Amino acid sequence: MDKVQFSASNFNYNSPGYSTDSLKQSIVYKLMFIVGKHPDVATKHDWLNATLFAVRDRIVERQLNSTQAQIDQESRQVYYLSMEFLMGRTLSNVLISLDIYNETAEALKNIGLDIDDIINEEDDAGLGNGGLGRLAACFLDSLTTLGLPGRGYGIRYDYGMFTQKIVDGKQVEVPDNWLEDGNAWEFKRHNLRYKIHFGGRIQHEGDEVKWLDTEHILACAYDQLIPGYDINFTNTLRLWSAQTSKEINLGKFNEGDYLEAVAEKNSSENVSRVLYPNDSTDSGKELRLRQEYFLVSATIQDILRRHLKLHKSLANLHEKVAIHLNDTHPVLAIAELIRILVDENKMTFKAAWEMTKQIFSYTNHTLMSEALETWPVDTLGRILPRHLQIIFDINAVFLDSVKERFPNDLDLLRRVSIIDEVQGRRVRMAWLAVIASHKINGVSALHSELMKEDIFADFAKIYPERFCNMTNGITPRRWIALANPSLTEILDTRIKGNWRKDLSLLKQLNSIKSDKTLHEQLAKSKLENKKRLAQYISEELNIVVNPNSLFDVQIKRIHEYKRQLLNVLHVITQYNKIIANPDADIVPRVIIFAGKAASSYYVAKHIIHLINDVAQVINNDSRVHKKLKVVFIPNYSVSLAQMIIPAADLSEQISLAGTEASGTGNMKFALNGALTIGTLDGANVEMLENVGEDNIFIFGNTAEQVIKLRQKGYNPREFYENNTKLRQVLNQIADGTFSPNEPHRYRDLFDNLVNFGDYYQLLADYQSYVDTQSKVDLHFKNQDNWQESVVANIANMGYFSSDRTIEEYAKTIWKIDPVKL
Ligand SMILES: *Cc1c(COP(=O)(O)O)cnc(C)c1O
Repeated sequence: MDKVQFSASNFNYNSPGYSTDSLKQSIVYKLMFIVGKHPDVATKHDWLNATLFAVRDRIVERQLNSTQAQIDQESRQVYYLSMEFLMGRTLSNVLISLDIYNETAEALKNIGLDIDDIINEEDDAGLGNGGLGRLAACFLDSLTTLGLPGRGYGIRYDYGMFTQKIVDGKQVEVPDNWLEDGNAWEFKRHNLRYKIHFGGRIQHEGDEVKWLDTEHILACAYDQLIPGYDINFTNTLRLWSAQTSKEINLGKFNEGDYLEAVAEKNSSENVSRVLYPNDSTDSGKELRLRQEYFLVSATIQDILRRHLKLHKSLANLHEKVAIHLNDTHPVLAIAELIRILVDENKMTFKAAWEMTKQIFSYTNHTLMSEALETWPVDTLGRILPRHLQIIFDINAVFLDSVKERFPNDLDLLRRVSIIDEVQGRRVRMAWLAVIASHKINGVSALHSELMKEDIFADFAKIYPERFCNMTNGITPRRWIALANPSLTEILDTRIKGNWRKDLSLLKQLNSIKSDKTLHEQLAKSKLENKKRLAQYISEELNIVVNPNSLFDVQIKRIHEYKRQLLNVLHVITQYNKIIANPDADIVPRVIIFAGKAASSYYVAKHIIHLINDVAQVINNDSRVHKKLKVVFIPNYSVSLAQMIIPAADLSEQISLAGTEASGTGNMKFALNGALTIGTLDGANVEMLENVGEDNIFIFGNTAEQVIKLRQKGYNPREFYENNTKLRQVLNQIADGTFSPNEPHRYRDLFDNLVNFGDYYQLLADYQSYVDTQSKVDLHFKNQDNWQESVVANIANMGYFSSDRTIEEYAKTIWKIDPVKL
């Protein structure tokens, strides 16, 4: 589009101010003139939107300046491609970033509104399933706070992660219509639209390849500003929304078939309709493949347009652009870049391939085979014929190079080929990612090692220099400053320097770890947070819990490998113990669960049902009344995590060793002063190294022992038969103690554990887990010791700030530097 001539000297404006008065004026003004409502009739949501607009005004100028600085400095950029961004609420976070929380609270109060009410009115932006999407959100926060140039790219799903309701103990999924009341935070970029092609056929014309007869839709850009904390710098999260290219099919419309005409519009816009609710499993649906291509095609076109506008040539693309793949979901970006370079810009395949390998890097998030993405060659060829051909070309060049280096190893060629010929000709997306990336990272030390020994063993031999580790982290802004105001106050008085920007400063607490006043302050803060959660539980679930009990919390996606069921085995063990010894001196516990199950994951949903049934029986049994309560809090989300985590005493991180790549929930808990009971899995291993073995409760088999046990032939029935208490618990599950109206309801869960191999080895770890839980009780009884451990956790968890993680990515993978402001 043409630019308009204007006279800069006539372009004057006053930057909006940050005082209470100025904020108040803005909010009222926005309500009147943007939302279009009179205060007399405005709803809470109208006020929320008005507040968001007012606050947004205060970062637009930074955004324009940040963008201009990057252009002036021709900064090398990272583009972070992810199918998921689990951002949570925006308003509260931006108020912290701009340090105008108190002023805004005051402004709203002057209008007669309560800031908490307004903040809680905002829907979570839930465009992700769990850890992977939340990691992407923490990374954007850190990238920007560090002043590093980059951009997130994702999909603006109309419906994010479903809302979970519990009806009769069972999960029910309700669509999450998060855009219903508008999204005051985003800017729609009306003129930024790209055509995305699907289907068609390819035609060779001399050396050239044409992709013809495609259908296409449009990707339209929506931008969210990402504010840095305490820095005049912002980045952008650009999300793509699908639009039909023709509003409606006029032909059909003229034929009078209104519904047909509109239906076609709906079907192509389906691409960005809904987030697939699968976590750590591959759904394999064709619409999902279309979503993945939709994201990467729009993104690559956008990156190239921007690059050409700045640099006029693609020759230096690899010097200015780093593209990061968050898991394999956006891996088609590799083929899309080559397609555009070769077919549309007449680069040779060889040149395009050499350039591509310098641009891409890839994070692996799981070792579990059921989660590794593969697509049938047929499906890929039908939807993206040109890309399939490019993947074949990449594979040929790669296999030639392997043949040259390892001439006598034919089986190696079969194993590393992108095309898996054994499993019915499928494209292995992780192989493509590894072959085309200059760096491949795991997300914790253990995971990165196992990655090289296990799924990528062959590639680690071929490209040893490509593999590295980037241990995950979390942003202290959201997960401490925002989530835990009372702990924040303690840290602010006890620590010199701003720990929000340098979390290693928390180390200062080590010198006062036995300070009784500090212990009292921490205990008071924890109790306050527990009371807040207890009130929520009472209001929402009508269950009364005692805030002086030990709050034992496992909140995360429901998945067999995360072993919520092992936690349930302990809960029932505890129940039996109290009934058998009514007078024993027992530490009262409230066991809290939360988490969503993928809608098609039967076992996970069944486990939710069991938890609720167990809760029902235990909470209504007067014999255990004061000593044990079980609570399943529905609809786990970022906002709920922000409330629950600061209220936890004990954090359950009990996945089977070797299955959880890193975990990030574990880090949030420890930084909020909960002690961890966990296996030597994922980042738990590094947490142990940092906090010390006296301050964390480790149990169970190691990853090595798990493999050995599987190899020698694990027989769970032996554990069932030889352990009386365990047998009692399993029999209770099987015989309907917790489902008297349907006694066989959980027979299948029992069989999975006892008769069908117990794939995640719960029974093998059971005794060690129960014994370690007793050690927790013992430790909790001595509150001085417990508080000393709490301090040790907070003080020594600074390493797990995502600022540290992003600094490592920036230095060793992306090679980007802070923008000078
Ligand atoms: C941190 C977080 C996760 C990841 O939790 P894990 O325990 O590491 O699986 C998932 N969902 C939400 C909402 C989170 O905030």
